[in-house]
Amino acid sequence: MPLQFAVAGAPHGTPGSGGTVRGLQYAHSLGISAMELEWVQSVPKNPERMSEVRSTAESLGMTLTVHAPYFVNLNADDPGKLSASVRRILDALSMAQLCGAVSVCVHPAFYLEKDPAIALENVRKATDEIMEHKSRLFPDVNLGYETMGKPTQFGTLEEVLIISREFGIYPTVDPAHMHARSNGAWNTTEEWHAMFDLYAEYLGTSSLRKMHIHYSGIAYSMKGEKHHVPLEESDARWRDFLSVLKDRRIGGVVVCESPLLESDTLLLQEAFTAL
Ligand SMILES: [Zn+2]
Repeated sequence: MPLQFAVAGAPHGTPGSGGTVRGLQYAHSLGISAMELEWVQSVPKNPERMSEVRSTAESLGMTLTVHAPYFVNLNADDPGKLSASVRRILDALSMAQLCGAVSVCVHPAFYLEKDPAIALENVRKATDEIMEHKSRLFPDVNLGYETMGKPTQFGTLEEVLIISREFGIYPTVDPAHMHARSNGAWNTTEEWHAMFDLYAEYLGTSSLRKMHIHYSGIAYSMKGEKHHVPLEESDARWRDFLSVLKDRRIGGVVVCESPLLESDTLLLQEAFTAL
């Protein structure tokens, strides 16, 4: 799949009462070919709505990805919280299957002061449980654990690559989160090449042709991510990032998580096309 730039949810300019179907139509009219469905507060429950989204996306030739709910911790001690987390992820994956999305971004866990190795083991166990349902509930959807923006969150690049390789899945790589988590690193051509080198080392060179990437400007401190900001108001060397995407022949979807939604998505897409 050639690289596509996705808007993170229905565009700001979506006419009428908004919603996913109108959002897809409006994004398409702007020349945008992909959208991430932002199920970050809750997962939709209605299968008929999902088939409506699916047929709209298919007729417009739009690629879909999903962002799963934030309320997830696969490293929770409380068995109730853990099973609710697994349930939310399974719900998101199942509904993503129904609407034809290719990959679901999931924030895997918080360390909760535990040793990262223990957190990794807990995420591994929960992933095993989730993947038992793959063939029945989400045969065509990827479980994409995200690289996370705060040092208190499970989700270094290595951590999500270790889990992804074990389960035959691929992560959601967010270089803005990596930049924030490290308080300023991961913002140069050399570092992004190293990022893709490590990715290919774990998942194989052909895995670079079908990625789930998030990108935006970001505000951060010693404690990592504060919030996403527009590309032009940030320190992101986003034009250099686009050149690396081009040089490495990266394929898949780059979701633009800027608060400006469609205008920054188009900024990235147009600058990429002009390269
Ligand atoms: Zn996310």
